[in-house]
Amino acid sequence: MSTKYDVIVIGSGPAGYVAAIRAAQLGLKTACIEKWKDKGGKGINGGTCLNVGCIPSKALLDSSHKFHDAREHFSIHGITTNDVNIDVPSMLERKNAIVKQMANGVAGLFKANKVTPLYGTGKLLAGRRVQLTANDGTEQILEAENVILASGSLPVNIPVAPLDSDVIVDSTGALEFQEVPERLGVIGAGVIGLELGSVWGRLGSKVVLLEAMELFLSIMDQQVAKESNKILAKQGLDIRLGCRVTGSEIKQENGKKVVEVTYTDKDGNEAKEVFDKLIVCVGRRPYTDGLLAEDSGVKLDERGFIYVNDLCSTSAPGVWAVGDVVRGPMLAHKGSEEGVMVTERIAGQKTVMNYDIIPNVIYTHPEIAAVGRTEEQLKADGEPYNVGVFPFVAIGRAVAANEQDGMVKMIAHAETDRILGCHIVGPSAADLVQQVAIAMEFGSTAEDIGMTVFGHPTLSEAVREAALAVAGHAIHIPNRKKRK
Ligand code: FAD
Ligand code: NAD
Repeated sequence: MSTKYDVIVIGSGPAGYVAAIRAAQLGLKTACIEKWKDKGGKGINGGTCLNVGCIPSKALLDSSHKFHDAREHFSIHGITTNDVNIDVPSMLERKNAIVKQMANGVAGLFKANKVTPLYGTGKLLAGRRVQLTANDGTEQILEAENVILASGSLPVNIPVAPLDSDVIVDSTGALEFQEVPERLGVIGAGVIGLELGSVWGRLGSKVVLLEAMELFLSIMDQQVAKESNKILAKQGLDIRLGCRVTGSEIKQENGKKVVEVTYTDKDGNEAKEVFDKLIVCVGRRPYTDGLLAEDSGVKLDERGFIYVNDLCSTSAPGVWAVGDVVRGPMLAHKGSEEGVMVTERIAGQKTVMNYDIIPNVIYTHPEIAAVGRTEEQLKADGEPYNVGVFPFVAIGRAVAANEQDGMVKMIAHAETDRILGCHIVGPSAADLVQQVAIAMEFGSTAEDIGMTVFGHPTLSEAVREAALAVAGHAIHIPNRKKRK
């Protein structure tokens, strides 16, 4: 006999577990299926984000930042540190403990909300039935009024640099290096390349990033991207743009495995570089392997993502899909919000999601953060706009903290003054951009932010000054445009 649920969620990453919790809060009988196992073979929740993504990478970013700060910047405050060392296994142990704590937290939330956790592989059959192959091999057919597919994504592999689980690794492998590689190569100077390149660079690796595009962070606002490139280069990241990797070969050097990478540089010249470790991080692909029976009725789009409409409804009635496995930015919070929208709609509410206001952060130091449209997008859309830029060097709190690199760029509509975008490279950019996201959600103008009283001295003052600069009224810099 099969068990019938109101909602079955497949996948317990941030899209799936949030959907499951919200569904249960709304009084729906909910189960969540997860295939991920911890190192001991036990089913574990949290998906990519908690296990090998957002959380462990931020743990390592924070550890490596503290180490680097102590070594390089404490002396500026008059603090003497004679011998600052890093114990990599201890750093990794701390990271693993954080992952465990957060993943157990999801299990706790499931229990508190009465979500039934099921550990194994889920496959969608026709008619909203789900085949569950449990971790012990037993099979069961489950039925549901609604199924939410939240199976996430996997790293893209490239034939010119096949992973070898030792020297050539993906982002997961790069969270597990047992010692600091002397020479670290990174294919792809995107989000993961910059974050994990920063981790190991701060700990002492000589980091070379080989990026195919000629523009750095090509989808970000280019003024902020250029500024970020300068700051990161100053920190020692060797970012080589316009490079096409043509091959990689594992070799022996002094009795140790290394990898020789061959590539064509931006001028068309052949070049070679030897690395102790190589991270391949050239994007992620939707994870639909084994997820859908042939007659499930769920269609994929031309890029392999599960096809959904604006409300995350798939082509099969009663089947929804959310998170990395569907179109849109591959961000944990984007998937979580889709999960909330879908479950609330299942419960009869009219929830919609605002895809125009999704903050996006790269957790380098300083952070790079954005919300809304870039200047390049506005130009292409033919939308009239005004820009206000304010540098952190003119913010007392930033200077006091020795965090004066970077700027806030605010973009507002030229006629209505409505905020259209905000792009920041600088200290606490992630939290600052969120202030603007809230303002945008409420339809604020740049003047509204300019008229808000900000505490002093704070980093937030840079947001207000950039908003004032839109109209040429910034106080703590000379304004180029002067309006009354
Ligand atoms: P996932 O988190 O991938 O979860 C999907 C789950 O479904 C997995 O647990 C998988 O095992 C399970 N599953 C798949 N198929 C089945 C099946 N058939 N049966 C049962 N279970 C199944 N995003 C941010 O917003 N901020 C960050 O700072 C950030 N940092 C990142 C750092 C790294 C190194 C990486 C790799 C990613 C990072 N991301 C970050 C991206 C973020 O992790 C993803 O956007 C997010 O995890 C997607 O959530 P999801 O629930 O859609 O999928
Ligand atoms: P990405 O899309 O951010 O960057 C991949 C980079 O690799 C791009 O710059 C691309 O031009 C380049 N590239 C592609 N093919 C190449 C090749 N053959 N040779 C050289 N360069 C090549 O992808 P990612 O860094 O792998 O991250 C995957 C996803 O995970 C991202 O889309 C992001 O949404 C998510 N993520 C988010 C965060 C965050 O929010 N802080 C952190 C990590 C990952």
